[in-house]
Amino acid sequence: MASMTPVAPVAFAATRPAAARPAAGPVALQAVIHAPSAGASSQVQGLDWPALREAVAGCRACGLCESRQHTVFGVGHEHAHLMVVGEAPGEQEDAQGEPFVGAAGQLLDRMLAALGLTRGEAAPARQVFITNTLKCRPPRNRNPSPAELAACGPFLARQVALVQPRVILAMGRFAVQSLLGSDAPLGQLRGQVHDWHGVPLVVTYHPAYLLRQPADKARAWDDLCLAASCLDAAAG
Ligand code: URA
Repeated sequence: MASMTPVAPVAFAATRPAAARPAAGPVALQAVIHAPSAGASSQVQGLDWPALREAVAGCRACGLCESRQHTVFGVGHEHAHLMVVGEAPGEQEDAQGEPFVGAAGQLLDRMLAALGLTRGEAAPARQVFITNTLKCRPPRNRNPSPAELAACGPFLARQVALVQPRVILAMGRFAVQSLLGSDAPLGQLRGQVHDWHGVPLVVTYHPAYLLRQPADKARAWDDLCLAASCLDAAAG
């Protein structure tokens, strides 16, 4: 892809760092993220996009299926270079079946636009794929439980394996817990490039947190620049 030239909005103003890591290798088709059951993993492993969508839509692996209006699979390019992973659908996402459509989603769209990226139709270098660790809304937006994260983990792993992104952006502590299996504070995990089965993974704050703590937007911009430099490095 062409080298991206981030246009830092004032709220995100910071210096873009140099490329931090070599290109990503192929994604291992390993449907294990944190500690999902072996049974669930093996059923999801090997599904193509339509079968995976169907499996998510009909999932009854945890109690969240009782209260959901819609499952929220994810949107974007099926071969996006950048895959964005959030936490779980909220009220509006549950109602519409699409991730990040509320206020946090609008901020996410502005963050992506600052990097020249979009969720709308575009080439895979520009159109991201956005999904969540959980595909169903926890009641009253409570935190995901470890059992729910484990039950949904194989779906996220399969999505990563199908997209084969060059970089994963993990937003917030539950995305980090699910993908890296780490309970460390985000502040300790930011600013470095992690590895998810050969795919560079960058940790940043969740946009909902940034709406409450706008002072941390500058740090989030640094994280986005790190992700952008990984994309540039992967493009060669
Ligand atoms: N927060 C998330 O983590 N995901 C959404 O889809 C919406 C809000």
